[in-house]
Amino acid sequence: MEGRDDFDAHRHEDAGDPTSEIPGSREYYRAASAILEADYLLVATGAGFSADSGLPVYKDIADVRAYKDKNLTYSDLCRASLLAADPRLFYGFWGHCYNLYQDTHPHEGYAILSKWFEKMQCRSTRLSTPVPSCGNRHYVYTSNIDGHHRRTGILDTCLLEIHGCLNDWVCTSCGSGPSPLPADFRFAVDDETRQQIVQAEGASAHEACATCGGQRRPSVMMFDDDCLDIIPGLPERMEAYQVWEASVEDALSGSGGARVVVLELGCGVNVPSVRQECEDVVKDCVRVCPEGLGSSALLIRVNPDFPLNPRLSTHTLSMRQGALAAIRGIECAMAQIEGSKCSV
Ligand SMILES: [Zn+2]
Repeated sequence: MEGRDDFDAHRHEDAGDPTSEIPGSREYYRAASAILEADYLLVATGAGFSADSGLPVYKDIADVRAYKDKNLTYSDLCRASLLAADPRLFYGFWGHCYNLYQDTHPHEGYAILSKWFEKMQCRSTRLSTPVPSCGNRHYVYTSNIDGHHRRTGILDTCLLEIHGCLNDWVCTSCGSGPSPLPADFRFAVDDETRQQIVQAEGASAHEACATCGGQRRPSVMMFDDDCLDIIPGLPERMEAYQVWEASVEDALSGSGGARVVVLELGCGVNVPSVRQECEDVVKDCVRVCPEGLGSSALLIRVNPDFPLNPRLSTHTLSMRQGALAAIRGIECAMAQIEGSKCSV
């Protein structure tokens, strides 16, 4: 059983700020101010962020009768070896996920984040701190494979999907890809058994490679994948992200008083790689900030159960709630600070 961490010890009294009549408003106001004043913004998202669109989190994906009857867990299903052992189960599982991701609309939080990035790009010319080599002051770092960041505004301009994306498929024989499936294609999956319904020969060949006829698989990290090569281009994209992060650290180590905000949304503790990355970025940035020159680094950790960061609590703003609710609250606080009308 997972417990909640001790948030009450870190709860602040609301007093004297213009949003204090809204529950949790002091955190919204602090987060909004920090993001508006930031020179660099890293947004990191996990399963809790997708959940606000109605998508299941990891523990719920395999929580259906068809899998329970066979004692299959998420980690049994999310294995490349399943393709050879039981292709109908493999394509049934991934096909169901693919259909769900395609047919689910990304929630409003994606559009709000994209708007924040656009505003940041617009005021970029007024900021004295350097623009990273990729041309953007923002980055999105995600463990989600639903591809929803690609579908909204400018979220895909600087995007690292560390576990790949279910939109991309690669051939297990000749290695060709990644390539998308046709936009209107959906897998035929039996609702009860969650097995792929095999069509008449030649009627459903989208899982077959167009070059060699081999079987294709999603270009996502599975539990038994032992190298990043299964996701073509991922090592290069990771390198690009590292370069961006290094340029942010460079800026913070200078005399310009640069500020970075890391906004972590719905990242769980079971696969804590994204939380760890957020903590490491803030820790590294704090380390290089020169004393007394106004540079700063802040982690805004949004999580309904685990919002704390004991390793660096003085540089962490904890928000104990869901991602979309927090984004809406911050957006309204921003509007209040800027004297405009809140649109959410
Ligand atoms: Zn092939």
